[in-house]
Amino acid sequence: MKTKREIYTVEQICDGFEYNELEGKGLYGLAGQLTIQPEYQRNYIYADGKRDVAVIESVLKGYPLGLIYFNRVDDGRLEVLDGQQRITSLGRFLKNKFAVKINGMEQIFDGLDESKQRKILNTELLVYICEGEGEHAEEEIKEWFKTINIAGIPLNRQEELNAVFSGPFVTLCKAEFSNSQNANIQRWDSFVKGPANRQQFLATALEWVANSMMVSPQTASSKDPVSAYMSIHRKDKNINQIETYFKTVIDWADNLFDEVYSEMQGLNWGDLYERFHANAYNHNDVSAKVQELMKDDYVQDHKGIFEYVLGGCTDTKLLNVRIFDKATKRRVYERQTAAAKAEGTSNCPLCAASSNSNSKRIFKLDEMEADHVRAWSNGGGTTEDNCQMLCKMHNRAKGNSL
Ligand SMILES: [Zn+2]
Repeated sequence: MKTKREIYTVEQICDGFEYNELEGKGLYGLAGQLTIQPEYQRNYIYADGKRDVAVIESVLKGYPLGLIYFNRVDDGRLEVLDGQQRITSLGRFLKNKFAVKINGMEQIFDGLDESKQRKILNTELLVYICEGEGEHAEEEIKEWFKTINIAGIPLNRQEELNAVFSGPFVTLCKAEFSNSQNANIQRWDSFVKGPANRQQFLATALEWVANSMMVSPQTASSKDPVSAYMSIHRKDKNINQIETYFKTVIDWADNLFDEVYSEMQGLNWGDLYERFHANAYNHNDVSAKVQELMKDDYVQDHKGIFEYVLGGCTDTKLLNVRIFDKATKRRVYERQTAAAKAEGTSNCPLCAASSNSNSKRIFKLDEMEADHVRAWSNGGGTTEDNCQMLCKMHNRAKGNSL
């Protein structure tokens, strides 16, 4: 790979700059010769009134903006490899898309005095232009892109995957799942944690569909189903499968429950769909049960409620139901042990009632465990009057039923 050093002014780089609000990206510069955001780049994420403003303030103070890398593509045109967030901030400022504070006043580019405007336009940017060679050029550039992009905000896993598997499939996926203007996002947001521009919806959609395909021979042996899925579909000209699957899962979850709870966001709905979608549920019962558990003080893990209810209210481990504290256990132990000694029986009531060799044994505190006399799932609370100490053998024989 060859590199060449070049100096451009901000005015040159932003010549013909356009910003696409819909896709959230800067499109072109250098009078159309430069693609600011190639498909393997992440979306523009500096539009937060802090990082974009900082870019302009640096220029006004004469601070260097750091190195910028371009990639020369086959037809001689250029693409931004590293620096697109800075260039897009400059371009958007020149287009009056945001303001910076100067002497306490919010000012857009057109409102600046001419000397300040000139200072920005004449600022020089140091650019390295890379040219890959031969048939591996594209892979080489992308590999290198992964390396240099560790400065600033590192690429997350999905952004890396998008770079590695760039092509028509990723482009279509990003238009659907990474587009913050997509009207579906509000609904997705109840179940999946965003934001769109860091590829969270896309990552989730891929994870769900790829895991649902684990039974297919193509990906069955894969330890990384998402990579495998992206590799298989890389050249696809449509995203029907992932789009339909994602929609199916969200629709299923959305129709199951009356209310939307914040705890629903970020659960593995793809997995829940695979395990439970064949079951018939009574919508009212499901919603009522969820509501009841949400209000139950003993349930400490609200995120587990949905899986617990869908699974038929059996696996109480999912709820992390409050357990008896040490002081309660000690008091109950002492009371039980004193009574057992007086009667000459075991302090484990189940041993005492049996004819086994432990029927008269007095267990030590650390040989016993606390048990709900009336099961929590039957309305029994985690309170002292509902606590009994059992020997470990008997408590474990009762299983996990709380
Ligand atoms: Zn026992």
